[in-house]
Amino acid sequence: MQTLIIGAGISGISLTRKFADNSHSITIIDSKNHIGGNCFDYFTDDGIDVHQYGTHIFHTDKKEVWDFLSRFTQWYPYQHEVKALIDGQFVPVPFNFNSIEKLFPTSMAKRFIEALLEEFPINQKVPILKLRESSNSDLQFLADYVYEKIFLHYTVKQWGVKPEDLDPLVTGRVPVFVGRDNRYFQSKYQGIPLEGYTKMFERMLDHPNIEVKLETPFSHDMLKDYDRCFFTGAIDEYFNYRYGQLPYRSLKFDFLTFDRPYFQSNSVVNYPCNYDFTRIGEYKYFLDTQCDSTVVSYEYPEAFELGKNERYYPIVNEENNALYQKYLALAEQEPKVTFLGRLGDYKYYDMDTAVERALNLFNKEFGQ
Ligand code: UDP
Repeated sequence: MQTLIIGAGISGISLTRKFADNSHSITIIDSKNHIGGNCFDYFTDDGIDVHQYGTHIFHTDKKEVWDFLSRFTQWYPYQHEVKALIDGQFVPVPFNFNSIEKLFPTSMAKRFIEALLEEFPINQKVPILKLRESSNSDLQFLADYVYEKIFLHYTVKQWGVKPEDLDPLVTGRVPVFVGRDNRYFQSKYQGIPLEGYTKMFERMLDHPNIEVKLETPFSHDMLKDYDRCFFTGAIDEYFNYRYGQLPYRSLKFDFLTFDRPYFQSNSVVNYPCNYDFTRIGEYKYFLDTQCDSTVVSYEYPEAFELGKNERYYPIVNEENNALYQKYLALAEQEPKVTFLGRLGDYKYYDMDTAVERALNLFNKEFGQ
């Protein structure tokens, strides 16, 4: 049985390894000259782990996913914290009690915290769109403030639309946090691969049953040489845009190197209301690399345009989902091909959900 996997990102590589572990011989192709898709990273001469397509922080509560990847890497136990520039102060995001105390006078901050604790359990995450529905006037004030200062302008920069015009799951990823935990994620397992993502992927592909072909774009006539295929590229592209293009957001990064130990206070700083970039990432924080230089990236969102830039994010809303469903109906007619991954499923997967999807697909089809 000959199997072809199209796309050597985290989805395609995870699935490839599952096949190889179960005695299938597999070919995996990618049009780029490197593996890892948008998770690709490399090390500078000073030992800084730079994520070429923007900051990637692995986090999951899924033990099966963590255990699977942990066969191929040790992890640096990095706990992600983000700050945002709000009214001239750098405050923790997700917005929490510490952010409130930094931005408001003491008596006001106390009132807001009490009101939050009256309505929600401690250490709960509350999506901003939900907080806005509160009937308590203090919370209404707070919700409007957070909506305006954290979400509205950032979301318009990032997506080109207001928060309420996206699937609520998008802004729900960064809730308001009822408590003092400054971390971006509360997942049980989180970290950065100790030798980088690319090294972890290299190990996943290092198996006698696996053949890797880079700089090899997919073409439909490849299908005849294989019994089955798994396609992790863009589903609309596969069908030659029969119903029109599925919209995506893209990003442009300006990478800068400085001869100084640090540029900013932590790995990611968001600028919701200022500038045209959304955030600045500083890479040495991920593995706590000690050296005299530092690398940062300024992140500018832009529309995806075919042939001009890369797809980063599916734009999840009702209209686009309806268009995706039409492509999905076509996909179900393809006897040999299964679609997966952010682009194949048109879903805003995190790295762990992408791996989980690949593991589940393998388990479902092959009962392992
Ligand atoms: N978001 C925001 N302000 C922030 C951080 C996030 O409005 O300071 C919103 C924005 O719409 C963003 C979404 O929450 O696209 C998800 O943010 P996340 O950090 O999860 O995005 P990713 O790291 O996947 O780009």
